[in-house]
Amino acid sequence: MKERRRCLIILCLLLGSISPSAGETPGSLVLLIVDGLGSYYIYPEFTPHTQSGKPLEKIAAPNLTEGDARVINLRVPVPRTGPAHSVIVTGDPEAEPEMLSSTTTIYDILHDEGFIALAVMEKGDFSSMRREQDAILYAESNSIHEPLFKIEQHQYQSVPREIIETMEERSSLMPGYMEDARGAEAYRRYNRFAIETAEELVRVMRENHPDERFILTINVGGVDSVGHHTNHTTYLKVIEGIDSDIKQLKDLCREEKIAFILTADHGMSFKRRESHGGHAGNDYKEMPESLHTPLILSAPNIEHGLISGEWEQENIAPTILSILDLPNLLSTDSRPLPIKRYANLYVITDAENVKLYQNERLISEAEGERIRFKNLSGRYTILATSEKTRIEESVTVREDTTLTLKMPEEATGERLERLERRHVVGILLILLINISGIILIRRVTR
Ligand SMILES: [Zn+2]
Repeated sequence: MKERRRCLIILCLLLGSISPSAGETPGSLVLLIVDGLGSYYIYPEFTPHTQSGKPLEKIAAPNLTEGDARVINLRVPVPRTGPAHSVIVTGDPEAEPEMLSSTTTIYDILHDEGFIALAVMEKGDFSSMRREQDAILYAESNSIHEPLFKIEQHQYQSVPREIIETMEERSSLMPGYMEDARGAEAYRRYNRFAIETAEELVRVMRENHPDERFILTINVGGVDSVGHHTNHTTYLKVIEGIDSDIKQLKDLCREEKIAFILTADHGMSFKRRESHGGHAGNDYKEMPESLHTPLILSAPNIEHGLISGEWEQENIAPTILSILDLPNLLSTDSRPLPIKRYANLYVITDAENVKLYQNERLISEAEGERIRFKNLSGRYTILATSEKTRIEESVTVREDTTLTLKMPEEATGERLERLERRHVVGILLILLINISGIILIRRVTR
C-alpha cells in the first residue's frame, strides 16, 4: 500500500513538474556585491552629477550591466556598508548588523535546505555576517596597501576540505597581487583578488562536489575605497577594471547553470569634480548617486529584460529565495521581483499528507514539512490531512506563495467528504456533457 502511494506521489510530481520552457532551478547562486558602486556611473538611463549640479562622466560597463534581467531603479534605505549588507541578506529595510544573529537571513533558510554558505569579503565582513557563513575568507585589515586576509569557519554544513585549502592558498597569493601596484591599479588588483578567488571556489565546488548546492557571497572593496580616497575619474577607472575582470566568473556561472546576481551595498557621490567621494555623511546620504545601486540577475528560470518601476534593496533577499525555488520564510513582508518564469506554492505544515486540486482535479500530492508545488497558475484547493484531522484551503497562485497550515487538534472529517462529494459531482457533470455531445454529433451526422 505504502509503495503504491509513493508511486502515486512520484507520478503526480512528474505530471505537475515544470515545462522545459520555464527553465530549471539553478542549483547554486553567486551573489557579487561591488561595494560603493552607484548605478548612476554605469547605467545608460542615468547621468551622475556633482552636489552643485555639474554633470560627471560615466562609463559603459558591458560586463557589469549584462545579464538576463536588469533592474533600472533600485534604491537603498540606508547608504552605509553595515546596514546595507544586513538589508541585502534579511530583506528587512531596517536591518542592522547586530540583528543578524536573531533575525532570519537568507543563509538560515539556505542552511536548512542543505546549502553550503561560502564567502569572500573585503568589506561588509562584520562578525555577525561572518557567523552566517560556513566558511569565509575575509579582509581583517581594510588597508589596500597592507591587506591581511583570514579564514573563519563555522561549518553548519560541512565544508569540503578542498574549499578550505583553496582559501588558504588564495590568501597566500594576495601579496603577489599587490606587488608594485600604485594608484587606480592597486584598487583594481585588490578587486581582482576577490573575483578570481571566487572563480576558483566555484570551479573547485563544481569539479569535486558537483551535486552540492552552495551560495557564494563576494564583496569587492576597491571601488568604495577608491571613491573615498581619490576622485571620480579614478573611481571610474577602478569600475572599468572590475568590468573586465568579472567576465570569466559570469561565463563560468552561466555554463554551470549557477544563478548570478550583481548588486552594491550603496553608491557614491562627489561634491565637486576633483573632490573625493562619500555616501554615508550628511552631505552625501540624500544624493541619488549614493542611493541608487545596480541589480543585474542571470538564472535559467527568469524572464529576460529590463525591470522598470521602483524597487528597493529589501526586494533582493526574497528574490534570491524565489530564484532558488525556496519558500520565503524571512521575517519581513518584502516581496520578490516579478522575474521568475513560473510561480510556486510552498506549504509549511505539520500535516501528514497534502493534496493539491484545481477544478476538482487532483494535480499533485506530497508529504513533508516543507512542500513545494512548482509551476502553478490560478486558483487551487489544498487538502491537508493528518491521522484525525483535515483542512481545506483555497489559494490563488500568481507569484511564489507560501502558505502555513497548522493542523487543528479536533477531527474535521466532513470537509474531506464535502470535497470528495464535489469531486464526484464534477466527474458526473463531465460525463453528462460528453454523452450529450456524442448524441448531438450522431444526430447531426446522420
Ligand atoms: Zn560599503
